[in-house]
Amino acid sequence: MSKKNYNDISTALIHGGIYGDKTTGAVNVPIYQTSTYEQISLGHHTGYEYSRTGNPTREALEALVAELEGGIAGYAFASGMAAITAVLSLFQSGDKIIISSNVYGGTFRVLDKIFKNFGIGYSIEDTTNLEELDKKITNDVKAIFVESPANPLMTITDLKAVANLAKKHDILSIVDNTFMTPYLQRPIEFGIDIVIHSATKYLGGHSDLIAGLVVVNKEELKERIAFIQNATGGILQPFDSFLLIRGIKTLGVRLDRHVENAEKIASYLVNHEAVKKVYYPGLKDFPGYEINAKQAKNGGAMLAFELHDDYDVKKFYDGLELIALAESLGGVESLVCHPASMTHASIPYEIRQEVGITEGLIRLSVGIEKGEEIIADIERAIQASKEN
Ligand SMILES: *Cc1c(COP(=O)(O)O)cnc(C)c1O
Repeated sequence: MSKKNYNDISTALIHGGIYGDKTTGAVNVPIYQTSTYEQISLGHHTGYEYSRTGNPTREALEALVAELEGGIAGYAFASGMAAITAVLSLFQSGDKIIISSNVYGGTFRVLDKIFKNFGIGYSIEDTTNLEELDKKITNDVKAIFVESPANPLMTITDLKAVANLAKKHDILSIVDNTFMTPYLQRPIEFGIDIVIHSATKYLGGHSDLIAGLVVVNKEELKERIAFIQNATGGILQPFDSFLLIRGIKTLGVRLDRHVENAEKIASYLVNHEAVKKVYYPGLKDFPGYEINAKQAKNGGAMLAFELHDDYDVKKFYDGLELIALAESLGGVESLVCHPASMTHASIPYEIRQEVGITEGLIRLSVGIEKGEEIIADIERAIQASKEN
């Protein structure tokens, strides 16, 4: 149905994948809320047999994300963690996976508490140091798994360099692209093999669903992930697939505003006397700025900052009126979190200090409200946090 006469991702967000419904002309893909499909005759079916294996609504989403990321196939899962678990199921006992030091806590947890029990090892490395990383790739290492920017300090990893390193050692490169989305960064273009999303975040965009996606760039991976998806069954439901397609349509306009606000807030914070440090990849003096500028459209809309020691962070959080204190990110509403006690609480105190996740660190997922009103809320909270 789609005429595919477009080049820009802004159009692909709306017209990509499988557009509308052939039977009725509906401009939206219908929600095929069915578990099974009547077969035409014995051994002869419509292409659909059972919805764990295939569902038209989910397929439309999967085709869409594959197109957006520039891969050959996409897969939709019940959560970002289900997507990550499916990808990690590619490996077997004796294999080892290198993860970057700021990887999402749940990724670390599933490796450390589940996959380790099956003999799949991991090691945490600084993926910003490519020379050192090269030396860490021993024979048992079968993949490098990175995020860029990585949570919560927005650490930037050179994706092309990681892809090249993986190719050199004939292992897989995997990128969790949740923070950037294909609108801002397309890892497969740099030679990355597998892209993962927690679509719960920007792709869904409205804090109303939990979903995960996987995109691959190789025939062999296409078959293996399809097999794992069907065999382990962590699929996304038809209604949630519909919601996600709906969310993706506005990803471009949302992100334009998210980023515009983030840039405003970052420069407001940099110039504020109460602020010790700002972590935002869109700032020219941010370490990794150059690499990020090379591989992403801009600095995204996630940032972190630290107040000087004479400001009370607890009072800061209490002083916010507009911005909600919550886990998660990427929704239309601005959210703030305290990494040390929330998202990164499972990391021991000493290690947190070592890597820079201090007690005073504040992470902000910049929403699409009026930028000046987000700033006014932060200003109010900073004033409230002044110790006297
Ligand atoms: C939230 C998140 C996940 C996990 O996704 P869920 O949808 O919550 O299961 C994985 N990676 C990153 C970077 C995330 O932010």
